[in-house]
Amino acid sequence: MLTIAEITKNAKECHLCRLREGAKQVVPGEGNPEARLMLIGEGPGQEEDEKGLPFVGSAGQLLDKILLASGINKDEIYIANVVKCRPPRNRTPEADEIATCKPWLDLQIAAIRPDLIVCLGLTAARAVLEVNDSLQNLRGKWHTFGEIKVLCTYHPAALLRNPKLKVPTWSDFKMVMKEYGSTSPFERIE
Ligand code: SF4
Repeated sequence: MLTIAEITKNAKECHLCRLREGAKQVVPGEGNPEARLMLIGEGPGQEEDEKGLPFVGSAGQLLDKILLASGINKDEIYIANVVKCRPPRNRTPEADEIATCKPWLDLQIAAIRPDLIVCLGLTAARAVLEVNDSLQNLRGKWHTFGEIKVLCTYHPAALLRNPKLKVPTWSDFKMVMKEYGSTSPFERIE
């Protein structure tokens, strides 16, 4: 079994799909190797591509607020994406790109063995659960991936485009808080 450090090192050398050609670098993921909670997004954006870290752009800043509101310490969790290289113009990754990159995510999940996974957005939800359902149908309830409980919710980038989605996303994160054991004085995502 590879450690997260070994997976990260190996993934950074990956050129297995076309996404690497347009990306500045591979963005494997970041966080606590012993995380009980793992967040999984779609893929790196422009800022993530430049800095080599996941969720550091505007969507990442909103995610930080969601975590703060949820009483979840970012240092305790692990954050990764389904594809590790930035798709051109931030387009949705193609099915073959997801299939090629998914083994890196599977290795990360196997190494971390979190209790909980939160899929941020439809691409992550479908990739992790291996389903073809809509996010509306998948969100708001717990699924399982082996022994791991999986919850799907909206990607923070979707909340930036449509702030009304903050209400159902907060409802989903309240479910996460209950399982994770965190508490918060906040009533909503600001
Ligand atoms: S997206 Fe994934 S599979 Fe494709 S080159 Fe990057 S790390 Fe490798």
